[in-house]
Amino acid sequence: GLNIGVLALQGASAEHLQQLQSLGAKGVAVKKVTQLAELDGLILPGGESTAIGKLMVQYGFIDAIRRFAAQGKPIFGTCAGMILLAKEIEGGEPAHLGLMDISVRRNAFGRQTDSFQADIEVEGLSAPFPSVFIRAPYILGTRQQVQTLAVFSGYPVLARQQNLLACAFHPELTADNRITDLFLQMVCQAGKAKMQGKAS
Ligand code: GLN
Repeated sequence: GLNIGVLALQGASAEHLQQLQSLGAKGVAVKKVTQLAELDGLILPGGESTAIGKLMVQYGFIDAIRRFAAQGKPIFGTCAGMILLAKEIEGGEPAHLGLMDISVRRNAFGRQTDSFQADIEVEGLSAPFPSVFIRAPYILGTRQQVQTLAVFSGYPVLARQQNLLACAFHPELTADNRITDLFLQMVCQAGKAKMQGKAS
């Protein structure tokens, strides 16, 4: 089975772990850098990106996760996690991991609209996905290598760049596990590509 880490420094990791389990993967709550070595993929959950970012610096996760990504291992950032992946955050706030060619707007739907749910068409899924937005960001701009997989209110809210997946909403907060499954497929493919590399 696949070992998938969920960064558990701050924010919501429990539902991600449950959803991974529902898909037959082993979810691991990650609190130390040394745990990364045993993982096939990593989820950066929702929460407060400034708080998570500070803790990532404090515990040495920034360089460790950059190395993890450079090995071709998949990373899935949801909500705050998407902000952590972005190369650019609107307003001049410095990037955290700066891995993905997206610029993001924090709290993009306004602080008044704290949270809402919407059914959204997602590339590759046959029926709309029930998407829960909580003080969510969206993607203001992408570069060439980034593939937009879902758009809401005129802006990308789900996007992929090679081994990186970013989602503005919380795919773990409903019983619908199709987006987590999409990520697991990326992890499977990355694992296979690595095996082939070794064989040749
Ligand atoms: N508003 C949060 C931030 O900017 C993200 C909210 C979330 O992860 N649900 O970090």
